[in-house]
Amino acid sequence: MSINITDIKQYVYCPRVVYYNYVEPVPRKVSFKMEYARSQHFELNQKEKRRTLKRYNLVEGKRFYGLSVSSEALNLSGKLDILIDTEAESGQRFYPVECKDTDGKIYKNIIYQLVAYAMCIEEMTNTPVKKGYIYIIPEQKAHLIHITDNQKLYVRKITSMIKKIIQEEYYPEPRSKKRCRDCEFQRYCNDCDLPSLEAIKENDKLLMKKLFG
Ligand code: SF4
Repeated sequence: MSINITDIKQYVYCPRVVYYNYVEPVPRKVSFKMEYARSQHFELNQKEKRRTLKRYNLVEGKRFYGLSVSSEALNLSGKLDILIDTEAESGQRFYPVECKDTDGKIYKNIIYQLVAYAMCIEEMTNTPVKKGYIYIIPEQKAHLIHITDNQKLYVRKITSMIKKIIQEEYYPEPRSKKRCRDCEFQRYCNDCDLPSLEAIKENDKLLMKKLFG
């Protein structure tokens, strides 16, 4: 069974999300926030195809969109938003780019998702991938990410933990209870601190302000 690279991102957010995805699937509601993120993602790819890479501080090269990538060694697979082939004969040739509709902060779970893509590209092309980009859609800005050996080691550990959760039906501890407030699984985790009604309303207000000003 191949592990999807988005599971790496979810594991770093909270290992229990992986448990709910594979071991004990629960009904999931597609929130307005998720729908909005999906439409933004699609729009970016349509517009981005017509623009030069310089505009985004990206290296120049041939672009491949929505590329299926995999690693046999890690048993990982996924779909990469953009792969840039610089066609360089020396130095790094291939750059993975992951696009995100977030508030501009580069979250750790997104970095590890990018690291997993980089590891797949390394295996598929037999070339080193030590840098990649996270493109933040609202900012229209690409952030250069240096990919370290320690990060790659952590991705290996995560894939082992994900296999353990699935094969042994292991119910993991939460990463941080602070994340429960924004989590769609909070009604299934009976050991997390649920937010007050006031906190939920405040959160909704902030989201609406962010989306519509
Ligand atoms: S509600 Fe909390 S513990 Fe449960 S999956 Fe979400 S973040 Fe993890």
